[in-house]
Amino acid sequence: MSTDSETGYDPTLGNKFIFVTGGVMSGLGKGITAASTGRLLKNAGFDVTAVKVDPYLNVDAGTMNPFQHGEVYVLKDGGEVDLDLGNYERFLDIDMTSDHNVTTGKAYKHVIEKERAGDYLGKTVQVIPHVTDDIKRRIREAAKGTDVCIVEIGGTVGDIEGMPYLEALRQFAHEESEDDLLFVHVTLVPYSKNGEQKTKPTQHSVKELRSIGLQPDVLVGRADDKLDPETKEKIALFCDVPTKAVFSNPDVEDIYHVPLMVEEEGLDEYVMDQLGLFSRALPKRERDNSWRNIVTRDREGEVDIALVGKYDLEDAYMSVHESLKHAGLDQRVDVNVVWVDADELAADGEDSEHFQRLAQCDGVVVPGGFGSRGTEGKIAAVKYARENDVPFLGLCLGFQMAVVEYARNVLGFEGAHSAEMDADTPHPVIDILPEQYEVTDMGGTMRLGAHETDIESGTVAARLYGGDSCTERHRHRYEVNPEYFEDFEDSDMVFSGTAGNRMEILELDGHPYFFGTQFHPEFRSRPGRASPPFVGLVEAVVEQQRDVDSETETEEVEA
Ligand code: GLN
Repeated sequence: MSTDSETGYDPTLGNKFIFVTGGVMSGLGKGITAASTGRLLKNAGFDVTAVKVDPYLNVDAGTMNPFQHGEVYVLKDGGEVDLDLGNYERFLDIDMTSDHNVTTGKAYKHVIEKERAGDYLGKTVQVIPHVTDDIKRRIREAAKGTDVCIVEIGGTVGDIEGMPYLEALRQFAHEESEDDLLFVHVTLVPYSKNGEQKTKPTQHSVKELRSIGLQPDVLVGRADDKLDPETKEKIALFCDVPTKAVFSNPDVEDIYHVPLMVEEEGLDEYVMDQLGLFSRALPKRERDNSWRNIVTRDREGEVDIALVGKYDLEDAYMSVHESLKHAGLDQRVDVNVVWVDADELAADGEDSEHFQRLAQCDGVVVPGGFGSRGTEGKIAAVKYARENDVPFLGLCLGFQMAVVEYARNVLGFEGAHSAEMDADTPHPVIDILPEQYEVTDMGGTMRLGAHETDIESGTVAARLYGGDSCTERHRHRYEVNPEYFEDFEDSDMVFSGTAGNRMEILELDGHPYFFGTQFHPEFRSRPGRASPPFVGLVEAVVEQQRDVDSETETEEVEA
């Protein structure tokens, strides 16, 4: 029999758990559905947290290619995790830790280490119960101290990798009181050629769940439109749930509107009712309505921001996209993100179609990245923004490339580069962090997580952050080389944020907005609390648009 120290079971904790599984296919947006439900519970006054389970053998997402898995999201404790955690942080407005991302790699690593230490006292170590116990313990640990914990199981029901997790959920149902658990299954409801909503894939997926001993309490159907009443009835009948437990989650133009849609469907009320939370929920009129007010704000214009990167995949820069959206909400404008391929800029320079795109934008962002592919294109984009007074924001690698561009083209250091891209550069203005010299393992070894930056008064950084320090998240191995500090001293490039000997923020005197950060401010941006460097960018663009408008008006009056 497993002991409580292994499974983490403690009846006095009193948490409620919502387990979210997905059926039919991946990429259905079950994370957004789960985060939206969580947001509504938060609006009703509950302390909500989340756990994302990723059934892969990587210990964390840090070593994964963004083109396959989307961006690596960084937590304050330095955890490199799946991008879904970013959605939970943004929707629930919480700061999570690495413990909130359970992976097969973490569970197996721990169990095998315990086995090697002899902790299993001669037992045969097996997936059931040892790995499943470890999974349950991790989920319970992460839920501690909150009212409701949403646990999203990555992948699709039926995947071999997901089996130990579903088994762990079955054991959960066996150990905890029925009132404390809710199983939500999110599936795809496709349309037939004649426009009919088809429920068979959902039926099959639920059948699969039931064969492992799990009966869903709630079914959410993802479709282009709302589910027809007949569709709901059919799903209810075949999947053995009440019709009122079947919910629609149609496509909406903006993910931040999903909580509003889910509320309209009554999913939150049903969940609270099932979990016996109603008596503890805030009365309706006291609910926190800030989310609705923030995401439905009137916007008075639009701006086009170029995102100069190497992956033509929105998910690879998800937090940058979201941060730009937040800054737009703050400045009351819609932000259109225009993809500019750094590789094309590098290859064809000003003749490329992508340079034309860049030139039509109102502002430029050069995000983080690794490796040399596309860097010359990023440097070209920095140069264009610097010389043409176009508002610019450089993030991590983007910050480093701004330093390289300035060193080459303004300070006259021919061939200046980052030692990451060119080990033989005559001017390594960006060099490896001293503590990285001996590092050979790639997993979890960068300078990671939240670190404080001191901000110089009277600078743009001081105005944007409203104080003399900020704490932002990092993920890098390279930095501005201290040997070149002196060369920048009398230039227009000002390092307005530092952490000891590390340069953390740069800005350019005399430019409308030229701002770079060695850290990644995009990981702390929230819909209602936009990140200061992003606000600065959008604000500068809006100001330039206003100036152009008033000039045109004056010309019209004069003419
Ligand atoms: N590759 C650069 C470094 O390691 C930048 C990292 C990043 O953009 N996250 O320092």
